Order: sequence, then C-alpha cells, then structure tokens
Amino acid sequence: MKITIFGSGYVGLVTGTCLAETGNDVLCVDVNADRVARLNRGEVPIYEPGLDDMIAANRNAGRLRFTTDVAEAVGHGLLQFIAVGTPSEEDGSADLQYVLQVAKSIGEHMDGYRVVVDKSTVPVGTADRVRAVLSEQLAARGMDVPYAVVSNPEFLKEGAAINDFMKPDRVVVGSDDGRATQLMRDLYAPFGRKQEKVLVMDVRSAELTKYAANAMLATKISFMNELAGLAERLGADIESVRHGIGSDPRIGYHFIYPGCGYGGSCFPKDVKALAGTAREVDYQPLILDAVEAVNARQKTVLFQRLYEHFHGHLEGRTIALWGLAFKPNTDDMREAPSRTLMEALWQAGARVRAFDPEAMDETRHLYGERDDLALCDSAYDTLEGADALVLCTEWQQFRSPDFDRIKAALKQPVLVDGRNVYDPKRMVDAGFTYYAIGRGESV
Ligand code: NAD
Repeated sequence: MKITIFGSGYVGLVTGTCLAETGNDVLCVDVNADRVARLNRGEVPIYEPGLDDMIAANRNAGRLRFTTDVAEAVGHGLLQFIAVGTPSEEDGSADLQYVLQVAKSIGEHMDGYRVVVDKSTVPVGTADRVRAVLSEQLAARGMDVPYAVVSNPEFLKEGAAINDFMKPDRVVVGSDDGRATQLMRDLYAPFGRKQEKVLVMDVRSAELTKYAANAMLATKISFMNELAGLAERLGADIESVRHGIGSDPRIGYHFIYPGCGYGGSCFPKDVKALAGTAREVDYQPLILDAVEAVNARQKTVLFQRLYEHFHGHLEGRTIALWGLAFKPNTDDMREAPSRTLMEALWQAGARVRAFDPEAMDETRHLYGERDDLALCDSAYDTLEGADALVLCTEWQQFRSPDFDRIKAALKQPVLVDGRNVYDPKRMVDAGFTYYAIGRGESV
C-alpha cells in the first residue's frame, strides 16, 4: 500500500519505518527541513533502540523516503497518516494547530480518494474538525473528492517503540466508513497474524481510548507515589507494600513502581488535556486533577530530600545526577523529573554534574552552556567534588555500580535514589546516607 506519514518525530518515524518493514511504500513528510535532510543522509534524529538499522534497511530497499514536499506527499499515499505533535496550550488543552495544518495541506492537494488517519493523540471531536477542514479546502477548490477520516491512536512506548508497533497489544481503529475500515484491517493484518489485533469502534470512542489509557497509567503512578509518601510517614516500606498488592491479580505488578514522578511527552499533557475536555463539558475531573497534583508534588521530592539533608543550605553545593531522560532507553527530556530537580537546585545556588547515556545532547540543547551545569563524560565523572549523588533515571547501567568507588569519590556519602533501585540495607552497611522513595530514612 502507498502510505504518507505527516510528522517524522517519535511516532511518525516509528510508524513509517514499521509500515515499510511489512512491504508498504512509505513517504514521510516533515516541515522541519533540517530533520528531513538528516534523515536523507541516513542520520536518525531521535534515539530509539533498533530504529536506525530498520530505517537504513528500508531506505536501501526503496520502501521508505523522506521529503518536505507536501504536494508530493498528498499525491503519494492512499492512506495519509497525521503523526504531528499535539502539545499543551497554556490552559492544558491540546494544541491542534499542527494537526489542522496537515488537514489543510491534504485538502489543498488531494485529487482522489484518501483516508486521513489521525495517529496523533487528539481530543474527542477532532476527526470532525479534520473533516470540516478537508471539506472547506475541497469546496474552495470546487472539487468533490471522496475521503474518510479515521482515528488510529498510537500506544507505543518510547524505548520499546519498535517492538510495541510490530507486536501490538491492540490496534484501535475508530471508523464509520466501511472502505476505510477494510483498508486499515489490511494494513495491520501482518502485525497480528496469530490473533486479530484490530479493534474497530466509533471514532469518538477511539479518540477517548487513547486518553483513557494514558490517564489510567498516570493514575497508577500517582496512586503509588501518594502511598509512598504515606508509607514514609508511617514507617512502612512501599516496596513491601508493592509486592503485597501486586500479587493480587486484580491489581497486578505492572506499572505500580513509586518514583520521582512521571514525565515525558504524553502522560503530563494527556492527563491535562483530558481534564480540560471534562471541564469543557461541565464535568469535574476529580481524579485527573488529583493525579496531576500528586505528580507535581512528587517531582519536588528529590529536591526536598537534599534540602532537608543539607538543612536548607544548598548554596555552593555540587550535586551529581545520574539519568536525565524522563525514563530509560530514550533521549526524551520533555517534562523529565530531572529538569524539576536541576532547576530547583540552580535556584537554591547549587551546581549540577550530570550524566545520561543518551540525553546529553538534548540537555545541552535545552539549557545551553551554563556555569552551574557540567555535562560529564561518564557516570563516575559526575562524582568529582560532589556532595551527594541522585539517581533520577533507572538506566540499566546504573543498577549495579561500584559503590566503593562512588563512596570514595563523593565528598560525603549521600545517595538519593529516585527510583528505588538499590537495597537500603546494603547501602547503609556500605556506609551511605541513603534516601529512597517511600522507604523511610535509612540513615
Ligand atoms: P514529535 O514532536 O517528536 O514529532 C512531531 C513532528 O511533526 C516534528 O518532527 C515536527 O516537525 C512535525 N510537524 C509539525 N507540523 C507538521 C506539518 N504541518 N507537516 C509535517 N510535519 C509536521 O512528536 P511525537 O512524540 O512523535 O508525538 C506525535 C503525536 O503522537 C502526539 O500527539 C503525541 O501525543 C502522540 N504520541 C506520542 C507518543 C510518544 O511516545 N512520543 C506515543 C503515543 C502517541
């Protein structure tokens, strides 16, 4: 099938590449000319495990191309995927300007049947708005061309995106057009050969399903973080509690890890956008508001630990930071808890020495050169002259470090574990002042 993908970010690139992998002829289009030029030189602008090899193989096979030419892009694909960003507006609602701009471009150029597939995460009712833009553009051109608009939200996880796309739990398709539904079933057939993965539903339910999934996952995290705060105050260990509840199959072990708050491009913006949608229809989003508030509080916990440990005197201190990306296996720094921590430390007059296996360029890009931030070549380099070490992102390589080396390098053996990856008893026995999340103060 001929496919066009608008937007070559995390979702567009993965979608385009995986659809090329199953034999489709894919043309990716992006307004960012620099990004397209890099892709055409064989460079991959984001870090996603396995993506570079897959892009190279499909480019070589002639099934995957990149362009900035919108007219060519609209002419190419029977299916036109919209995979552009939907960032938060000031009030938390989803900013649809990029999605509607793509709809306008498609309407300006289409001259035959097209299925416009919304893969971006968009509020309920967006397909209607896309349809309205297409009709308006076609009417302005005096054309009567058939088309369908379907919703096909994406559930991939950064860091495991290829596997998630190639072996999806489900593929949600919101469609009220029989021909478009069949095309979507055909497109996704190779991704669920053992078991039917395509769930067809009405467009509005599909749009809501994406927000419901992310809001549920964010709720699990905030719930555990609230309990962690409680456990700490009650002298209980949240890790024991986690095992105790996860063993109940109705609860399960997935996604109930306490930590220093959720970040990334999706949970924060999607929870806010869904709450905004609820308010628009005069329905108070009690749980969603609480999920967001708990997360905002949780993102300050690492700073609070340091502030209390140093009795409010952080000025002139140096803090070593392991992990900057919002989670492992990505270079994505959007809404990362590390940012809340670094910004609070700078505000308090402290310096940061940081290392992340993949997010160094992104951090440099965000903060530029500054005296109070040293981006180090390795995890151990961060420790030089540092008063404490904070683990912010649980990359595998941080899980079993050389604790003797850490202790010897730090000015004081203070370790703040934002992801509960270390064993408190072992840390205390090794002579650390160790703080974790919801496990009491293990000094
Ligand atoms: P991104 O910011 O990484 O990429 C968006 C891309 O779209 C950019 O390269 C930008 O230049 C391009 N773009 C903007 N306007 C354009 C236009 N008019 N024509 C062509 N290209 C244009 O965004 P992302 O993380 O890939 O997210 C895209 C959507 O998918 C969002 O709605 C997001 O919520 C959703 N989503 C993201 C993830 C994720 O893990 N990142 C997972 C599921 C769903």
